[in-house]
Amino acid sequence: MSGRPDRGGPQSLFYARSTTRDLPHIVRGDGVWLEDDTGARYLDVAAGAFLSNLGQGDERPIRAMSEQARRLTFSYVRNTVHDPNVALAGRIAALAGDGFERVHLSSGGSEANEMAIKFLRQRAVACGEAARTRVITCMPSYHGATLAAIGMNGDLDAEAVYGPMAVFSEKIPAPLTYRAESPAAAAGVTVAALDAAIERIGSERVLAFVVEPVGGQSTGANVPDPSFFVGVRRVCDRHGVALVFDEVMSSVRCGRFLAAHRHPAARPDLVVLAKGLGAGFAPLGALLAPAAWVDRLADGVGFNVSHTYNANPIACAAGCAVLDAVVDDDLIAAAEARGAYLQSRLETIRARSPLVGDVRGQGLLLAIELVRDAAGSRFSADIDPADALRRHGARHGLLLYARRQNRGRYGDWSVIAPPLTITAEECDELVDRLDRALDDAAQELLR
Ligand code: PMP
Repeated sequence: MSGRPDRGGPQSLFYARSTTRDLPHIVRGDGVWLEDDTGARYLDVAAGAFLSNLGQGDERPIRAMSEQARRLTFSYVRNTVHDPNVALAGRIAALAGDGFERVHLSSGGSEANEMAIKFLRQRAVACGEAARTRVITCMPSYHGATLAAIGMNGDLDAEAVYGPMAVFSEKIPAPLTYRAESPAAAAGVTVAALDAAIERIGSERVLAFVVEPVGGQSTGANVPDPSFFVGVRRVCDRHGVALVFDEVMSSVRCGRFLAAHRHPAARPDLVVLAKGLGAGFAPLGALLAPAAWVDRLADGVGFNVSHTYNANPIACAAGCAVLDAVVDDDLIAAAEARGAYLQSRLETIRARSPLVGDVRGQGLLLAIELVRDAAGSRFSADIDPADALRRHGARHGLLLYARRQNRGRYGDWSVIAPPLTITAEECDELVDRLDRALDDAAQELLR
């Protein structure tokens, strides 16, 4: 899109020109491929924004949405009960298992994270623990873009703009494995910092610790050491603090329905979902909670929060069809198997590209860390290597997602998280094209 129209125009008119000059104008999609208005095709390396789990054009959710729209277009969840809501909550709860019997549906990840905080706050007040107001999150981290979620994000640059307005959570270091002495040492630092932060604030004032069990864009698919999960669960239990997993990005994609399922001894109290739940067909988020907590609150004042589009019939029908497709096509196992293959192929790139310092992730939530030299040095604040790779990737038919947080202070990476339907041959194609894009980006960045 060149030039600015007098009126209207794409959403990208709002974003920094420096990052939107060359955005492709996408006109259609097919499987893992997107096509622009010149006929150029791109492999969708980041599944849109890490959500197109079924790829483009799957008929099942499309049919389910249109049938639902014909039968019952809309009915509000505050003055009616409807079947698609019950069906989707049932499917999610069945896949999530014990401890997550109740499902509160919303329209995205930020909204669902806010629901988690508001739910916990109402529960604390109802339980006579009204002093619990403080939230703890990691630096870096990402939990969303609403004013409350901005306060939770581990984003050092947000405070200058929103500091006087948003309520900022207490930050502790994320358990970043790259550059750490060891993954276990990094986990130990975070667990100790959580304990110290709660002690400092006063355990009776802390509401929750919210964390991504596998990192997303904010850490480049950081996978904490298993000791992290047991450790934070123990600390939260000791202080009566709720443990919340933000699984907006990790659910399904990490090779389990919940990343939490890999750590049964450290089950979180609440889980938040979004992205792949609607898989691009409908805006959907969800808060998963234990029946005992929800029912106890409902027997009293209740959790009476809802947005107009929460659990709307068409989005619920889409969600049901997406989850049915995930089950029928065995996409959770596919994410694990294909992810292991793609990760091994990315390792071969790391061995030869001077720009790639680390390959990490779980299932099809992977990332390559971009470094300046063999010692793994970070790039300076004025160079955005992931955006450079995005530009070069586009010339090689790859659509990459680049969104820098913290101006590279914790490192730079490109998240590799294609649709879960990607074939082994398409993985090979992705890697071959990425290899060439990395060569070009290295020429530009490592001159
Ligand atoms: N949490 C995580 C871990 C995310 O990756 C995102 C989105 N990138 C969000 C929350 C916010 O979700 P949404 O953009 O749907 O509001």
